[in-house]
Amino acid sequence: MTQTRRDPDTLHVVIIGNGVAGVTAARHIRKGSAAAITIISSESDYFYSRTALMYIYMGHMTFEQTKPYEDRFWEKNRIDLLRDHVTHIDADAKQLRLASGDSFGYDVLILATGSQPNKFGWPGQDLHGVQGLYSLQDLQRMEQYTRNIGEAVVVGGGLIGIEMAEMMHSRRIDVTFLVREESYWNNVLPPDESAMINRHILSHDIRLHLSTELEEILPDSRGRVRAVKTKTGEEIPCAFVGLTAGVHPNIGVCEGSPVTTGRGILINRYFETNIPDIYAIGDCAEFISENGTRGRIEQLWYTARMHGESVAGVILGRRAEYDRGILFNSAKFFDLEYQTYGDVPSDVRDEDSLYWEHPDGTRCIRIVMRDGVVTGFNLIGMRYRHQVCERWIHEERPLTYVLEHLGEANFDPEFSHQFEDRLIGQWNERHPDQAVHRVRRRGLRRLGTSAYRHIRENATS
Ligand SMILES: Cc1cc2nc3c(=O)[nH]c(=O)nc-3n(C[C@H](O)[C@H](O)[C@H](O)COP(=O)(O)OP(=O)(O)OC[C@H]3O[C@@H](n4cnc5c(N)ncnc54)[C@H](O)[C@@H]3O)c2cc1C
Repeated sequence: MTQTRRDPDTLHVVIIGNGVAGVTAARHIRKGSAAAITIISSESDYFYSRTALMYIYMGHMTFEQTKPYEDRFWEKNRIDLLRDHVTHIDADAKQLRLASGDSFGYDVLILATGSQPNKFGWPGQDLHGVQGLYSLQDLQRMEQYTRNIGEAVVVGGGLIGIEMAEMMHSRRIDVTFLVREESYWNNVLPPDESAMINRHILSHDIRLHLSTELEEILPDSRGRVRAVKTKTGEEIPCAFVGLTAGVHPNIGVCEGSPVTTGRGILINRYFETNIPDIYAIGDCAEFISENGTRGRIEQLWYTARMHGESVAGVILGRRAEYDRGILFNSAKFFDLEYQTYGDVPSDVRDEDSLYWEHPDGTRCIRIVMRDGVVTGFNLIGMRYRHQVCERWIHEERPLTYVLEHLGEANFDPEFSHQFEDRLIGQWNERHPDQAVHRVRRRGLRRLGTSAYRHIRENATS
């Protein structure tokens, strides 16, 4: 994996993929050098925010508004953009073969080719009206397939599945949501949070079918989808099927090249592949595991951005090991915001976490600890400051300290104080021997068990 050491200013860096990983790498290489930079993408002329695809469909944003940079940014920053598909990497000659028939040379190559939706060989998965949601082209197809339809089915209970359900719900299409697990996203969310989202999905009139697996997708006489059949034999009529059973790294570009792949393109902690001067970043990359287990793949917007910045540092000669730091993610389940910081296992034990849920069932806080030290937060229906939560986890603060200072994490202290008091009251009721006091600007306030009872009895929405 030795990489050629050359003056970065003299290099031609070619990046395959104009997603957030590739574009961030280009921006940081430009900041630190005069290298020639080319980004090749077969999807779009310009970088856009993939996470905003749903808002285009729902009419909240135009495509133009999803572009983080104006079109003139690229020329101004001397970053060349090429719309083409790379079909082959000739690593010996340092040449790329393009679908247009051209060849393209590079000194340093960054693979930032993203992910692809999973398909599991279901009969009918390639019918008209059946698709995943990943690219602009997928969005265009979805526009076309869902025009004037009445019923749709979404298969697969992750974040993109619930987005697709919300998208079609916004157009008054009846959606049936098939989830293989017994509760929504329960491989990530602990049971309480997962149950909250089940209820929320149902409250939006989505027909949520838990513990339900797809058997096949049935065609009409014109080769369009007319229904899905589940493993229990139930037939659900529909004119569109969204396949959202996860994604996998898009590694097709490595076929026929010496770049080694596993589930993703294999890299070390400097984003180096096995071939000198070829790097991989973002969703397509898989970190080689040190103990022979499955390597880590990070398929998140912010990690892709971190990869881009880190690989730029390596190429510019600041060779530092990548450290993702404390995990962070956020999403929306319809109108419910979700944030997670640090480590919140889906099977967290009751004794390892403090969970409080608002009586209206649409807001909750979970604080996870290990040996009394806070290691993670889950928040639904409310938000805490990223930096503060991250700092507490990093500083290995005890739960009692975090409870006392919870106000610091608030965006809206006036609104949220009542929730902190309830959480603290819950703790104090269960652990009267370790009762805590919330630190306020003007002194301390103790919330004993009777105070908690009072708050609980008077809880309003
Ligand atoms: C609908 C949706 C919603 C999401 N929401 C969230 C969210 O809320 N939070 C979050 O953290 N993450 C979210 N994600 C995931 C997040 O968008 C990805 O982790 C991130 O975009 C990955 O960036 P990337 O640069 O690695 O790859 P991509 O953004 O996938 O970019 C790769 C690009 O490379 C192009 N390409 C691939 N092969 C070739 C080739 N051979 N030649 C030329 N071009 C090629 C592809 O067409 C693509 O344009 C979401 C994803 C989707 C699809």
